Amino acid sequence: MQICTTIDAVRESVRHARSEGKTIGLVPTMGALHAGHLSLIERCRERADFIVVSLFVNPLQFGPGEDYDRYPREEDADQAKLESVATDVLFIPAVAEIYPEGETMRVSVGRMAKALCGASRPGHFDGVVTVCAKLFNIVQPDVACFGQKDAQQLVILRRYVRDFNVPLHVMGCPTVREPDGLAMSSRNQYLAAKERKSAVSIFQALELGQRLVDDGERDPTSILQAVEDFIQMNSSAEIDYVAMVDPETLDDVVEIVGGEILAVAAKFGRARLIDNIIVETPDDEA
Ligand code: AMP
Repeated sequence: MQICTTIDAVRESVRHARSEGKTIGLVPTMGALHAGHLSLIERCRERADFIVVSLFVNPLQFGPGEDYDRYPREEDADQAKLESVATDVLFIPAVAEIYPEGETMRVSVGRMAKALCGASRPGHFDGVVTVCAKLFNIVQPDVACFGQKDAQQLVILRRYVRDFNVPLHVMGCPTVREPDGLAMSSRNQYLAAKERKSAVSIFQALELGQRLVDDGERDPTSILQAVEDFIQMNSSAEIDYVAMVDPETLDDVVEIVGGEILAVAAKFGRARLIDNIIVETPDDEA
């Protein structure tokens, strides 16, 4: 695995791989890698010959008072994990390499950035899309892989690539979970033991939502209420939102037809956790 800290070095490396006829895959991360990240790399490898993993804690996507300063940074352990899966290049730039003059411009996402997490994290998705736009231009991959766990991010990036005619395929990858169902997240390490135990209620509540759909419920309102009640009864979490949205527009849905995103964000102590499932209906599966 080659480690690049500069844009020039990663470009040179990609240029060389291209000259050998290889296709390029990109997996952007903020580090503190876990099995969810590694699964993205493995999936990316199925679609591309040469894999670039970026590790960059992007200041632009953190709001004031959020966890930019204390976000876990575990570069040595991350490097070892990346060696264990087939990564060709680790791109690990300093903030000054990506934003040499500080913040100048950012991509403005608009409406879709205001849904779900956007309401409590203004500017977050503009920051995400800005750094991804830069990474796409630096690496120029054929495919870029993102987790379904961050569903809103995935929907917005798909939309960005379509609207701005970026010549790459955005691939969504399934959420990897702990054995009890909690979605893996670098932020799970903020959880105290008791919070960690009750954090599984998010996924259990999402599963309950799916079960209600399985039993024939098609009204999102009653499902959202049941999901919220379940989390409240089984944890002391502070719920940010429970929502069911259209997978293309992120607008709230009024009727369930299958394919909707059922999403939750909730604070367990100082950890703000998010999770979601794609709602399935029998017609949808047929
Ligand atoms: P992050 O380092 O949190 O910015 O995440 C980097 C990428 O890993 C994003 O595309 C995330 O959606 C993805 N990711 C994070 N957690 C998981 C998970 N549990 N399963 C699958 N992908 C994940």
